[in-house]
Amino acid sequence: MIAIVVGGGPAGLMAAEQMATSGAIVTVHEHMPSVARKLLLAGRSGLNLTHAEPLPQLLARYGDAPQVVAAVRAFDPAALRAWSAELGETTFVGSSGRVFPTAMRATPLLRAWLTRLNDLGVTIELRSRWLGWSATPAGDLRPTTLRFEHTDSSTSEDTADAVVFALGGASWPRVGSDGTWVQTFRDAGVDVLALRPANCGIRVAWSPRFGQRFAGVPLKNIALGVDGTWVRGDATITADGLESGPVYAQSAAIRDTIEAQGSCPVAVDLHPDLSAAEVRARWARRRPKDSLANSLRRALGLAPAAVALLREATGNDVPTEPAALAALVKAVPLVVPAVMPLARAISSAGGIALAEIDEQFMLRRLPGVFVAGEMLDWEAPTGGYLLQASFSTAVAAARGAISWGARR
Ligand SMILES: Cc1cc2nc3c(=O)[nH]c(=O)nc-3n(C[C@H](O)[C@H](O)[C@H](O)COP(=O)(O)OP(=O)(O)OC[C@H]3O[C@@H](n4cnc5c(N)ncnc54)[C@H](O)[C@@H]3O)c2cc1C
Repeated sequence: MIAIVVGGGPAGLMAAEQMATSGAIVTVHEHMPSVARKLLLAGRSGLNLTHAEPLPQLLARYGDAPQVVAAVRAFDPAALRAWSAELGETTFVGSSGRVFPTAMRATPLLRAWLTRLNDLGVTIELRSRWLGWSATPAGDLRPTTLRFEHTDSSTSEDTADAVVFALGGASWPRVGSDGTWVQTFRDAGVDVLALRPANCGIRVAWSPRFGQRFAGVPLKNIALGVDGTWVRGDATITADGLESGPVYAQSAAIRDTIEAQGSCPVAVDLHPDLSAAEVRARWARRRPKDSLANSLRRALGLAPAAVALLREATGNDVPTEPAALAALVKAVPLVVPAVMPLARAISSAGGIALAEIDEQFMLRRLPGVFVAGEMLDWEAPTGGYLLQASFSTAVAAARGAISWGARR
């Protein structure tokens, strides 16, 4: 079988490996000068490959995405970790169950992987940008004949028995996934939901003073509440909002509320380990002569950024009455008018509607065309779930392509 993979990210390279291992002749087309740039970017802060929580819990992270859940079940975290180990990169379970390669970075894994792909005879065409499908003289689209553009502006066609697309979403477009494929697929009649930011920061209209003074400072061990659901962790203050762990975890709910209502109220619990009654009791025992800032620091252990947040949220009118102060510390109210743009998000929601693919990840409208990775309409939190599903859906699409080729 001759196969083309379009997109040289983790999903595309995994699809290429699977098909080449089954004896297919595989060419990967990647429009950047090198492959897997987002994977390398992900590895900069520790490559979180997957998660070690029990499988039912992990599968629930993908929500209502039956094909994705089936793919992750078939190529599960244990299989992904074994694959990594075979490439010489053993993995370990970090705090909170996240799984990382021992080297933490993506570079050694990618290097070994590219060697394996080379040994399998996979050809990687760099600077080869997919433009769209070829058409018959009558104007009918030829699903497995693709048009590419090269850096010298020349174009070429490549044809195969099966094609796997793995073009990614549209976050961090400078590393390659720019989402321009969306319109081409729509023009071919495929239902593609708008790409939207996922696992992203949120905007908060800080006063200039607060934004400048505290940009980059973490709010440690807080809980972020949206509509009664609280997520704990460290958030980072930015010049125009909040980023990091609990913010990313709540960003889908915040995004959806903003889309429905124009803005989203969120609450910051500055002391998730203490009940409101315990905060009240500690506050009641503060030293009478201490200033407000000193009382908040001494009696409640609040850091300067947390104290400043209380001032910021109350227009510098922090209540001192114990019940009111405790209520504020347990739920500092903020209004979020927008989430950060897609280009700054960790991942994309939206993409090819799952109703468009069969259980083999083949597009129902385009026989012989398979799709995998983040370009499909699923979303999941950070924690290794994104790469896990990108790899798993690639394995599923490759297996689908192989059986499609065998049937032909
Ligand atoms: C800063 C950051 C950190 C992250 N950290 C983690 C993490 O620790 N754990 C985790 O699970 N996930 C993480 N992610 C998310 C994860 O990297 C992605 O979900 C994953 O890379 C998606 O894989 P993919 O192969 O589907 O798409 P991509 O990795 O986006 O690959 C798509 C490829 O297609 C190419 N392409 C696009 N258009 C064309 C075209 N027209 N022609 C040819 N080629 C094209 C692109 O250049 C790219 O190489 C992180 C993301 C970011 C931005």
